Formats: sequence, structure tokens, C-alpha cells
Amino acid sequence: MKGVDVKMIKLQLSRRNFISISLAGLFLPACSSGLQRGNQQTLSLLESEKSWLLKAKPPLDIVQYKLENPDLKGVLRQKAKSFVPAQDKYISRLEKIMRITLNHSGGVGLAAPQIGFSRQMILVEKQNKTKEIICCLDPEIIHFSKEKVDGYEGCLSIKGYGGKVARSKRVEVKYNTPEGNAIHYKTSGWEARIFQHEIDHLNGILYIDRLKGKLLPLEELRKIRAKETAAAEIKHQRLMLV
Ligand SMILES: [Zn+2]
Repeated sequence: MKGVDVKMIKLQLSRRNFISISLAGLFLPACSSGLQRGNQQTLSLLESEKSWLLKAKPPLDIVQYKLENPDLKGVLRQKAKSFVPAQDKYISRLEKIMRITLNHSGGVGLAAPQIGFSRQMILVEKQNKTKEIICCLDPEIIHFSKEKVDGYEGCLSIKGYGGKVARSKRVEVKYNTPEGNAIHYKTSGWEARIFQHEIDHLNGILYIDRLKGKLLPLEELRKIRAKETAAAEIKHQRLMLV
């Protein structure tokens, strides 16, 4: 599949396969300089978090970023905490809530802070024929390619807008599966973009922080994209929402 060159070193598929629908517009932010694991907090779940997980009735509403009030520091601007591996029951519950919510949203990726839960879990739709959605705990990008590509991204947490973001073309990601397996994964193209966008969410970073140009209403963005299709860099890229 052109434009999506994904090399899997090792992948443990999650227990449930969900076929998700790729929307006409899904995007992601990219190119952070790497996560600082040393700063990451690993804490047991609070009683309030456990209670929240048990009571939640998915699909949940996606937390929206207030563009008109950027100084408001909500969950989307916090660094998400790591998981304690032993808490399987709650990890499974969060995964289920996120899968149902993502499936309902029609996006191709979701980070736990987007449903208001500040922990290190993301879902990513594989950009191959399977469209399988993988669940990653404590994901970390351990290598960013120097080569970057421009792409249009949108975000389920910033509805109605999108913009161009330069991201590393290839990344290497380290993460744990909900079953506790450590995975080292190399990916490129749109899938690499999705990982970069979602892992940014875990660090309180939004694609609007990395914009190359203006934030645009989706309708305007689609018109611009149509004019730019002749440009080699973005010729094969889809518009995606994450
Ligand atoms: Zn997003």
C-alpha cells in the first residue's frame, strides 16, 4: 500500500478486533523530540479513578479543547500518568471504554486524556488492510526520523478544524500491551503520524502547538487540500481525525 510502509518487528494483537471506519478527515500531530521517561509518574490508580472506570457508560463524549480560552489548563494539557502493571482489571475496563468511544467517534486514534482519563493509554488504527486497532500502554517514541513530511491533521478534541503539521516520516515506538508484553514497533507514513499525534496527547501537547501555517475550518482546509493535490509531498495523504 503506497504511502503506508509499515514494518512490524513484533506485534501482539489485542484480544478484540474492531473494524473502524476511516473518515474522510483524520489527522495527527507529529515530531516531538521524545518522551522523558524519567519524568513520568507511575502511580497506583486512585479510588476515584477506579470508581470512574466502573461507572463510565461508553461511548463517552470526547473532551473538547477550548480554542477561545487557551489558558484553561484541563486534562488535555496535562502529562498523563503511567500505569501500575498489576491493575489488569482496570486496564481492561479503560481499554474497553476507549474502544467503544473510538468506534463511535469514527476516528483512527484516541488517547485516554481525550475521554478525561489522564493515564498513558492510546489506541491506534493500523493503516493496513486489517484496520486493526491496537492498544498501547506507556508508549514512547524512541526514534524519530530526521526526514519529515507535511500532512493535514485534525483532532477529535478540536472539532471542525484542521491544519498542516510536519511530522517525522518514520518512528520507532516502544509500548506495553494490556497483557503486559513489551513491544518494539517500527512504523512510517500515516500510522507514524497517528502514533506521534496520540503520544503528544499523553504529554499535554496538541497538534495546534505544531501547526505549520494557520488553523483552518475543515471546509476551508478541504478546499486548500484539493488545490494542493499536485504537490508530491501530500499527494497520497488522507485527511484524518485523531
Ligand atoms: Zn487528537
